[in-house]
Amino acid sequence: MHRSIATVSLSGTLRQKLEAVAAAGFDGIELFEADFINFKGTAAELGRIAGDLGLSIDLYQPFRDFEGMPEPQFRRSLERAERKFDLMEAMGAPTVLCCSNTSPLSVNDPALAAAQLHELAERAARRNLRVGFEALAWGRHTSLYGQAWDIVRRADHPHLGLILDSFHTLSLKDDPAGIAAIPGDKIFFLQMADAPLLSMDVLQWARHHRSFPGQGDFDVVGFFEQVLRAGYTGPLSLEIFNDIFRETPNRRTAVDAMRSLLYLESEARGRLVAEAPMQPLQVELFNPPPVSALSGLSFIEFAADEASAATLDTLVKQLGFRRIGKHRSKAVTLYRQGEINLIVNAQPDSFARGRFEAHGTSVCALGVRCGDPLAAVDRATAMRSQRHDSPVGPHELHVPAIVAPGGNLIHFVPEALGANGLYEADFVLQDEGADANDAGLQRIDHVALGLAVDQLDTWVLFTRAVLGLEPGESLELADPFGLIRSRGVANADRSVRLVLNVSLSQRTRTARTLSVTGGGAVHHIALGCADIFDSAAKLRANGTRFVPISDNYYDDLATRIDIAPELLARMREAGVLFDRSPAGDYLHIYTENTEGGLFFELAQRTAGYDAYGALNAPARMASQAQE
Ligand code: MG
Ligand code: MG
Repeated sequence: MHRSIATVSLSGTLRQKLEAVAAAGFDGIELFEADFINFKGTAAELGRIAGDLGLSIDLYQPFRDFEGMPEPQFRRSLERAERKFDLMEAMGAPTVLCCSNTSPLSVNDPALAAAQLHELAERAARRNLRVGFEALAWGRHTSLYGQAWDIVRRADHPHLGLILDSFHTLSLKDDPAGIAAIPGDKIFFLQMADAPLLSMDVLQWARHHRSFPGQGDFDVVGFFEQVLRAGYTGPLSLEIFNDIFRETPNRRTAVDAMRSLLYLESEARGRLVAEAPMQPLQVELFNPPPVSALSGLSFIEFAADEASAATLDTLVKQLGFRRIGKHRSKAVTLYRQGEINLIVNAQPDSFARGRFEAHGTSVCALGVRCGDPLAAVDRATAMRSQRHDSPVGPHELHVPAIVAPGGNLIHFVPEALGANGLYEADFVLQDEGADANDAGLQRIDHVALGLAVDQLDTWVLFTRAVLGLEPGESLELADPFGLIRSRGVANADRSVRLVLNVSLSQRTRTARTLSVTGGGAVHHIALGCADIFDSAAKLRANGTRFVPISDNYYDDLATRIDIAPELLARMREAGVLFDRSPAGDYLHIYTENTEGGLFFELAQRTAGYDAYGALNAPARMASQAQE
């Protein structure tokens, strides 16, 4: 499809926006009027700049407060429209977006609105321009696409059509199914936006909290599918009003934007093909290699200098790990417990990588097990992620990797290697054999990332489009010094779980950790066990210290949840936290911070429990603050 984006979706000057959009591979833009009004140059000059960058100007927007107006205002608006048509002709924009009227002067008269839009379209037709009519969710009399379509149909002019915007339909919980019945050539333009589910005024929601498709909670794929069923083959565009995007470097936003459209096209394509395999598509839709299913976290790799490697050695041994091997060609050590592999990389280049050069302990790579690593890398590069090739020594395995947002690496470890195949190939195994130290930690339950505020949506889309993970609920948690927003993402069988945390305040521990590492660091690692009391006791005996939990927490817990008194007493004594969902329980405990701010969590979950004990995070954060 012809891929486009509204200039309001990005930060920067108009020229910078166009350059970022062109670099990300877009075909065109929607010109947001304020961007043009403040542009130092003529409409013709803007048209040339866009043309030189290979971009068409697909839409001029918005034209407001037009239909349903009393005669004097209507006449003035027609004059206003002629001046906008002058600009559109000069810059080469074929279509203007006219959004439904919000003025208190407007009257609720669809026949009048149709007659007035007919006259506007007639004027546009004289210059071979087109008018698209869009229902704003907060339009005074027209807020639904069905109402806008009714007016367009009544107006019956070839230069007047409908503009659809997923935000307006999905924010009002209107059913998009009716779109499929609208003739595709009467839909002049399609704007896509996702959004988190929020209970707030729809205008504020629309102006500040839209996001790219795949970043929010709307069924944007279902919406797009209906538009395709209508036979629409015009531009696929993004119109995103988002406070954070207004600040984020526009090159990064443009890459996210392109990834979101590729994701949207490929998901919609998948649905259409599945429902009618023999039916030819009416427009080409992006068709990337399918997601290669992940089947677990194989390893976590820490970047370390010599001093922090020694600190880490002590720390992970206290956690019950044993050193089992040295890398064949690199200053890399492997530790293991249960199925968990921790790799400490003291190569100079590991420490210089991306954002993790700061100090203390930090994670530089994750290894995920996967059936077809090369297909996984193909998928990732198709979805605009970068491949990463590490130097490979003799007899070592090449493990395909990609660069995650923020600079971390994700390695795809072939399932065919079995649990230890990779390590047998790349490491000289010298198992210390001191299993006595084992604390019963069995697997990586989840890895929590601390992200800069402008990285959360990026990561949600990256994990969804590239890795095939699905986001869970978005939660806001209270730290004594501000709010943390937390969102889990996981694969279908829940063998890979990541938790994405951002701090909305500069003063929380999460934010301060980020200011050391530059953002995008592993915040904590949760290790799963079968008997948390036994594991915690062994770790304590090894010298691990846990975050102490207030007695008041347990008094309160007993009032909220029906727990056996013996279990409550054990949790109180051990400092173990508890969460219950209808399907299962979660017991967990946090270690105190290492010098870099990283810490560990022990987790014991029953099968049905599908979250991360986030409601207990404030207990941890408050306790850490009182230290
Ligand atoms: Mg719109
Ligand atoms: Mg956790």
